[in-house]
Amino acid sequence: MRKPLAISGVLLVLVLALSALFDAAAFAAERLTRIAENVYAYVGTTNSSKDNSFGANSGIIIGRDGIVVVDTLLSAKEARRFLRDIRSVSDKPIRYVVNTHYHLDHVFGNCEFARLGAVIIAQENDRKAMEKSAEKTLARIGEYGLSAEEMQGTTPAYPELTYGDRMTIDLGDQRIELIHARPSHTDGDTLVYLPDKRILFTGDILFTGYHPFLGEGNIPEWAKELEEIKLLDVEKIIPGHGPLSGKKDLEDMRAYILLFDQKAKELASKSSDVQEIVTAIRQVLPPRPEGAWLIEPNIRTKYLKKP
Ligand SMILES: [Zn+2]
Repeated sequence: MRKPLAISGVLLVLVLALSALFDAAAFAAERLTRIAENVYAYVGTTNSSKDNSFGANSGIIIGRDGIVVVDTLLSAKEARRFLRDIRSVSDKPIRYVVNTHYHLDHVFGNCEFARLGAVIIAQENDRKAMEKSAEKTLARIGEYGLSAEEMQGTTPAYPELTYGDRMTIDLGDQRIELIHARPSHTDGDTLVYLPDKRILFTGDILFTGYHPFLGEGNIPEWAKELEEIKLLDVEKIIPGHGPLSGKKDLEDMRAYILLFDQKAKELASKSSDVQEIVTAIRQVLPPRPEGAWLIEPNIRTKYLKKP
């Protein structure tokens, strides 16, 4: 009677050890979440630190003829992490990188993909914006809390293919539509739409669970764009920052930016004290767990600009 018990004890230890290993593997795999067959994305919400590209989401679409990458994170180092995660799900060649917009946390990993021969694509306004700003941003990277060491090996890799209103990428068995949004988060935002899978990558037109960056935003047009996106046949939305989202999050985002704009204008007409305005606006904004530090630059750059 005693022997079977001892064996089952050993078995129990083995099972526990194996399940711990399995958990660790599952955790590692979770870094790039499977959204649908052949579509994966980072959709993290809880780590918005610079070590996690300020919580920027990236993704991949795997087709018969290769891989399309959507956004490339904050630096060469972050792009290499992304590449390792890509290689854990596919060894196909990376054909294209689509930049949803030129902000540093979405494009500074481009260089690692360009090195592998990927063609970088963006909307034509976006390429111009990146050409104007990328070198300057890298030169004063300390203002973003980043060190030269963290950015080591990061060089601007500009889009070599641009489009105007729309573009289609055909991966053999997967059609990907690039749509130029109306002026929203920037004036060169790209939506990446997979009609047959009902999946949409919005870039920073949608922040879910994050306070958004509004510094270059065109609020009325942005609100219209969010309305329009709701009309697309879409089920799963990968936002620029935050967890996997849906149409309700588009509506929350629309309400947020309209409220922010109205309140910020009202407060800025009575005061030019940034901190006072930030404190007052936080009392009316819906709580979002991440990105509250962006409220201050939003007020400063957009509502207290001196002519
Ligand atoms: Zn952005």
